[in-house]
Amino acid sequence: MDARSEGEAVTSEASSDPHAEAASRLQAAGQRYTSGRRELVEALAGAARPVTLPDIESIAPGLARSTAYRNLEALERCGVVHRLETGGDHAYFELAESLLGHHHHLICVTCGAIADIELDGETESRIDDSLAAAARESGFVPLHHSLDLYGRCSSCDAAA
Ligand SMILES: [Zn+2]
Ligand SMILES: [Zn+2]
Ligand SMILES: [Zn+2]
Repeated sequence: MDARSEGEAVTSEASSDPHAEAASRLQAAGQRYTSGRRELVEALAGAARPVTLPDIESIAPGLARSTAYRNLEALERCGVVHRLETGGDHAYFELAESLLGHHHHLICVTCGAIADIELDGETESRIDDSLAAAARESGFVPLHHSLDLYGRCSSCDAAA
């Protein structure tokens, strides 16, 4: 974790080049940025939302499922890919915040759909301040937060 100057928001900015970031993270872990891994990062960057393995297969039909899954796990271990479990049949995958930028999720408890949402900087600062104040009472040193909202997506709400 890098040291942060006082007053700086504990949020991360997106990396300008996800491939360069992915390559350097894999290299640091002694892993190669193979064409299959590059294709996965390309698919996730292009999707611009969390996707399941079947979603990835329809975006990039050339990727074999078993290889894609192993590569997703390797990318996850290196901090390139973030896995989200919503309790449905399939886990969702997206680029890690260091590549994608800090954001939150709307998770539908009925169908398991998941969407990214971004809050404005002022709201993020208020959240960080409130959490830091609560953490301080326990002598806890906050580094970053992760906050997802559970509810019903618009189509499930319409069907309810
Ligand atoms: Zn839903
Ligand atoms: Zn996300
Ligand atoms: Zn946040």
